[in-house]
Amino acid sequence: MSTITENLQAVAEAIGAATAEARRPRDSVRLLAVSKTFGPEAVIEAARAGQRAFGENYVQEGIDKIATVNAALPDASLEWHFIGPIQSNKTRPIAEHFDWVHTVEREKIAQRLAEQRPAAREPLNVCLQVNISGEASKSGVAPGQVAALARVVAGLPQLRLRGLMAIPEPTEDFAAQRAAFAALRALYDELCAQGFVLDTLSMGMSADLRAAIIEGATIVRVGSAIFGARHYNKGQA
Ligand SMILES: *Cc1c(COP(=O)(O)O)cnc(C)c1O
Repeated sequence: MSTITENLQAVAEAIGAATAEARRPRDSVRLLAVSKTFGPEAVIEAARAGQRAFGENYVQEGIDKIATVNAALPDASLEWHFIGPIQSNKTRPIAEHFDWVHTVEREKIAQRLAEQRPAAREPLNVCLQVNISGEASKSGVAPGQVAALARVVAGLPQLRLRGLMAIPEPTEDFAAQRAAFAALRALYDELCAQGFVLDTLSMGMSADLRAAIIEGATIVRVGSAIFGARHYNKGQA
């Protein structure tokens, strides 16, 4: 068995163990395989092992990979998620080629994605990225601004607001990991109480997926635990 296939099994087991610990149904958490910096052959291998959803951070790398993988596996019906920072001059290829975007943090970006989403495609699924740890340098909308942005996004055509996403400040402290994810979950619950119909909490990566699942993650975004360590090209990271 290949390394990627073995790693996918190990991650699936970790998700299974965490959902059991949290007394949540196993199918309440989906795995997003984060394939940034890895070639199409790695995605194809993961897809052949049954993985369906893939996450990409860089627009050009992502759309090239989507074209290559879809040509190699035309019947695989893979799902492509954009999870990187979005520059306003790069919204069109995202709107045209991806199924999900996890990193909407500004009204202007949401408006451009809505305008540029082809009418022939399903609405683009959107999560709002929240700056949950409050670090000055981190991306994401401030927690106090989430409801206002949610109202705008929910009203835009060709976008479907699904929920919230965060990348908390990395920490090895399990209680601190849980606290950050619990804060995102509380914001999510507030939005639901206000009447937004949401189903997605995108939180948890290779190093903190157990804490994220215990706090209610519905999508975990896992890269290195599946594909191995990343080596960035110059100008990419
Ligand atoms: C790279 C990346 C991941 C995956 O990180 P790993 O630590 O490799 O699991 C998840 N989410 C986002 C937004 C990323 O950029």
